[in-house]
Amino acid sequence: MLTLNKFTATVFLCVLMMQLGLAPTKPKAVLVVHGGAGTILKEQMTDSIEQLYREKLSEALLVGREVIRKGGTSVDAVVAVIEILEDSPLFNAGKGAVFTAEGKNELDASIMDGGTGMAGAVASLTHVKNPIKAARAVMEHSEHVMMIGSGAEKFVTSQGIEMVPEDYFFTQKRFDQHRKALGEAVKAEPIQKKYGTVGAVALDGYGNLAAGTSTGGMTNKQFGRVGDAPIIGAGTYASNASCAVSATGHGEFFIRNVVAYDIAALMTYKNVSVEQASEAVINGKLKAINGGGGVIALDREGNFTMPFNTPGMYRGFISLEGEPQVFIYGAEEE
Ligand code: ASP
Repeated sequence: MLTLNKFTATVFLCVLMMQLGLAPTKPKAVLVVHGGAGTILKEQMTDSIEQLYREKLSEALLVGREVIRKGGTSVDAVVAVIEILEDSPLFNAGKGAVFTAEGKNELDASIMDGGTGMAGAVASLTHVKNPIKAARAVMEHSEHVMMIGSGAEKFVTSQGIEMVPEDYFFTQKRFDQHRKALGEAVKAEPIQKKYGTVGAVALDGYGNLAAGTSTGGMTNKQFGRVGDAPIIGAGTYASNASCAVSATGHGEFFIRNVVAYDIAALMTYKNVSVEQASEAVINGKLKAINGGGGVIALDREGNFTMPFNTPGMYRGFISLEGEPQVFIYGAEEE
């Protein structure tokens, strides 16, 4: 007698539907982007602000895809995308970076090339306009993986990367959040968590993956605090053998759980899909310990996923043809 377990039955059904041309074909992506996860609720958003986020993420996706279409590498695309988001005051990276408890802006970023396995990271920068470019310079023009603070800025200056005065990073919105959080901390009230970090993962025409992440960290972080964004394996990871991942969320949880690498390792050692691996880590392991956040992850076939365990996450993808697709809230169809 023929008995089918649930898994075999599902596979059988999918194959049958595909042969009949009925299978819901999930689009393939060449580029996936995020602009941070957190308590992002429709009722707290105006239409015009929502529009600004959607437009900026779409613009970044279109620019990044153009890089790939013109024969650029996945690293080129990731840098181009993140540079646009760093220059926008909307996101907690570059121009829109949050303030530390001391009222400063300290920026972290990293990048990894899935084809070569090379990586670069910077932390606690205070004068670099585009930290993602600094991370790339560390990867490509130094013998090191990570540089921090004034040493990193010395190196970055020698690479001809644009420096700016500290007040370039001032935005009233972030300053008000900083003041409010200080007040709330004094009153010991909970601070609404929003993680506006930016990140991108890309697959180029040569079949190479790359991932990058850039952030101002967390509002009112303590002096010298570094989050997961510049930690290779925590906030960023890429390998052609598995996937490219960029994370956003409560960095301490992402560091302790080595989130980006954990997803890649699950794929490698357990032979599961990028979607299953990311889901297990974000909505399984992290959710169970209240580690708020999400990831974008992309494999070499263009399969991608954008899971998060917070109410929302700015996110989007684009395929080689077609319009950019951008989402913000939890209930949206992807
Ligand atoms: N992960 C970042 C950090 O902890 C914050 C964020 O995603 O916005 O620094």
